[in-house]
Amino acid sequence: MRLRALAPGKVNLCLFLGGRRADGRHELVTLLQSVSLADELELVTLPEGGVDEVRCPGVEGPNLVSRALAGLRARGWDPPAVRITIRKRIPVAGGMGGGSADAAAALRLCRVLDGLGDDLVYELARELGADVPSQLAPGLVLGTGAGDVLEPVQELAQFALLILPQPFELSAAEVYREADRLGLGRDGAEMGTLGAELRAALRPGRAPAPALLVNDLQPAALSLCPSIGGALAAARAAGAEHALVSGSGPTVAGLYWGADAPDRAGAAALALAERFPGASSAVPFRVQTI
Ligand code: ATP
Repeated sequence: MRLRALAPGKVNLCLFLGGRRADGRHELVTLLQSVSLADELELVTLPEGGVDEVRCPGVEGPNLVSRALAGLRARGWDPPAVRITIRKRIPVAGGMGGGSADAAAALRLCRVLDGLGDDLVYELARELGADVPSQLAPGLVLGTGAGDVLEPVQELAQFALLILPQPFELSAAEVYREADRLGLGRDGAEMGTLGAELRAALRPGRAPAPALLVNDLQPAALSLCPSIGGALAAARAAGAEHALVSGSGPTVAGLYWGADAPDRAGAAALALAERFPGASSAVPFRVQTI
């Protein structure tokens, strides 16, 4: 059997950072938008005697998709061995949740092979990483808790994104550590107020107020890699109404609103392609492909 799935990257249109919890994760209020920039996964079942295998050119070391498979097997999932091949398009260690998207897409594919309960899939996703559950059903979602308590959100006003990858990686753990060092975390009361404001602003077909389109991790990413500032400025100079670091960075996203947004973001990506190799435009991801 051969199955395919897209694993869309995400951009955090908003990320409010709270305190560090006992489990090491941070409290978040975040608006996650899956985008059309996506990795591609192919799953094939192997003949008897085969062992699960993950191929992911461009990513060294242990793969989150291998952990997803191992987690399923440990829970008694027993279809024949599979090989999953991943074609990376999402910048690696770029803050767009590529590994999480791949793991979530692998779980969706495995579900097709042999029914798996919602609770089992969600629990395993949560174990794999705080960003994995939100990517089980790509779309627009409000994440609280560590980003793993999810509420679907209706589509906002039409918008498009300019994606500017950076020629270096950032470890999410390091960015969170830097955020702690800089004392960026907000207290519980402020998180509650901002969460309520964000929820109230999320009305179908509307753009949230600019004051809500912020990423509290951005100063930490900039502190570690000041050159990100140049990419933010370039996105604004290329007509983006908002520019922000995606998640823990370093990828920069420019937001364009309105009916002509895809064209404007596309033109900006072309204009910046030489200065930022891999620059592309994207739109919110809508169609689930499996
Ligand atoms: P995070 O989810 O930690 O915010 P990110 O979006 O910044 O991460 P990813 O592209 O998910 O970054 O990669 C983080 C690290 O995870 C990489 O350095 C890589 O070694 C490892 N990794 C494991 N599996 C994958 C995968 N399928 N795709 C990309 N990276 C992976």
